[in-house]
Amino acid sequence: MNMETELNQALKKLRDIELALNESSIVVITDHEGTIQFVNDKFCEISKYSRQELIGKNQRILNSGYHSKAFFSDLWETVTNGNVWQGEIRNKAKDGSYYWVDTTIVPFLNDQAEPYQYIAIRHDITQRKQYEQHIEMIAYFDPLTSLPNRNYLNQWLSNIVNNRNDIVSLLFLDLDRFKSINDNFGHDTGDAMLKEVANRLKYCLRKNDIILRQGGDEFIVILHGRHTKEDTISVAEKILNQLAMPYHVNYHTITTSSSIGISMGRMHPEDLDCTSFIEKLIKQADTAMYHAKKQGGNTYCFNTPDQNQEIERYYQIEKEIKRALDHNEFSVVYQPLVRLDSSEIVGVEALLRWHNPRLGKVSPIEFIPVLEELGYILPVGQWVLRTVCNQMKRWKQCDINIDRVSVNVSPIQFRSQQFVRELKQILDETDLDPAYLELEITEGTILNIIESSKTLHELKELGVSVSIDDFGTGYSSLSYLKKLPIDTLKIDKAFINDLDVDGKIIVNTIINMGQNLNFTIIAEGIEKKEQFQYLQEQHCHQGQGYYWSKPVPGEEITALLDGTKESKTAY
Ligand code: C2E
Ligand code: MG
Ligand code: MG
Repeated sequence: MNMETELNQALKKLRDIELALNESSIVVITDHEGTIQFVNDKFCEISKYSRQELIGKNQRILNSGYHSKAFFSDLWETVTNGNVWQGEIRNKAKDGSYYWVDTTIVPFLNDQAEPYQYIAIRHDITQRKQYEQHIEMIAYFDPLTSLPNRNYLNQWLSNIVNNRNDIVSLLFLDLDRFKSINDNFGHDTGDAMLKEVANRLKYCLRKNDIILRQGGDEFIVILHGRHTKEDTISVAEKILNQLAMPYHVNYHTITTSSSIGISMGRMHPEDLDCTSFIEKLIKQADTAMYHAKKQGGNTYCFNTPDQNQEIERYYQIEKEIKRALDHNEFSVVYQPLVRLDSSEIVGVEALLRWHNPRLGKVSPIEFIPVLEELGYILPVGQWVLRTVCNQMKRWKQCDINIDRVSVNVSPIQFRSQQFVRELKQILDETDLDPAYLELEITEGTILNIIESSKTLHELKELGVSVSIDDFGTGYSSLSYLKKLPIDTLKIDKAFINDLDVDGKIIVNTIINMGQNLNFTIIAEGIEKKEQFQYLQEQHCHQGQGYYWSKPVPGEEITALLDGTKESKTAY
């Protein structure tokens, strides 16, 4: 190296130092091995070490363990080759706290062009870093559970499926009946439960598994690296068990369960990138989750091609049902309720029907959830109540001997502020004696005893009776229900269907206990003579089912009562 270039290089170094220095600069000079030879006051201030404690020590004393080995080998390679290194470093102070410094390291070279000393000039950037981390937290993490969110997934996808041969299992999880927990116990309790769910999920997974909060009560779990389908199943089972244990939050003990949809896959050449691959898995797992819900929840379900068609149908229903009320596509049919000791028809249940020109007949099991989801259940529910009250009034005017008509009420309707007032208005308008009307609600509707009891008492005062539909499928105990003004229990048809298996014990218990507590007991879904006879022997009060009649239009009820027509036609 000639004199001129050497001089030029020395001058350039000085300029680097000059540029980096200002009154807030933190300066340290070390020898070629990193042993500290000089520090300025600012250095002592930020590192919280005294000058004496630092001189003669290796600068590794400040190492925070945050940076990787590769980070430091890159730094050393740059400076030992005589070049200036610039970057951001996290250091550890004497009291264990961390600080970030923007660092410029300038090497001084001897005649053999080997570094013999380094001067490092630093500036405190801790605040900026904290701010950046905060922004990152907000962008990539869910503030409630501190779990990563979907943005995080998009950002880190390439790390998840870095090996294209890796199998990825994606579990899409949704809590069962979470909406009613929120509605019944308030959002604070709902939030506290979600936090607990996040903790339980963490407990179920291995270190490398990923959990995200997708939003609301939906979570995504991703298993990657080597694993089999059995491993995925055992994770799903573990999650189901964990999440079904009671939650003790805000002085309430709440039970829930979850539904899990699972998709598994390996990136194919047609998957353009990781993002579209994961998006596809999410969509499939979401569909499978919807299927698990349909099976009653508290279960897992793998994605199949059939399910994709089903979700398509859901969207079609969603599209068509918005106009159904205006286009008079709804109707109401009635199914008789029969006294088991005398076989006489004592009441009818009103059931909603939808016939759409494009979709044909759609079952309420399919469309009621859509109405609820879209918020249309309120106007449709009102329409049903008005139609039924009018029909009952007409029957009464014709002296038809039916004591009661029961109408299904969605939890959303029941909890709406105006429900009792609007019902009263309909009863007034149609001039129907409230004693003829019964409302059917499910156990989930009255999870919160305090709020529901207010509405139930208002209904009692109005003179309307209430029955619990699909009894046995929820979590309420009979003693709990006895605290509320409830008249009737309808045993879910699943138990009647299982009478020859193990349904008998459940059915007998409900009948015995229910009678002791003075409920009227109705068995739903009686199809066979043996079922009817068995329930009659058990002194179950009433029954409903295809054994007597399918639901029929209002006009046909007269014929059924006369016994002139036995309706087996499906409506
Ligand atoms: P649900 O209230 O438990 O009604 C009984 C269901 O069982 C009806 O189905 C009825 O047709 C069916 N069923 C009656 N007897 C038998 C039988 O012997 N065997 C079998 N397999 N099934 C029988 P549907 O009409 O399809 O209604 C399904 C559910 O949709 C109802 O269950 C109720 O939860 C809901 N739903 C129907 N109408 C309304 C409505 O106006 N408002 C609300 N919110 N929900 C409704
Ligand atoms: Mg019902
Ligand atoms: Mg039912």
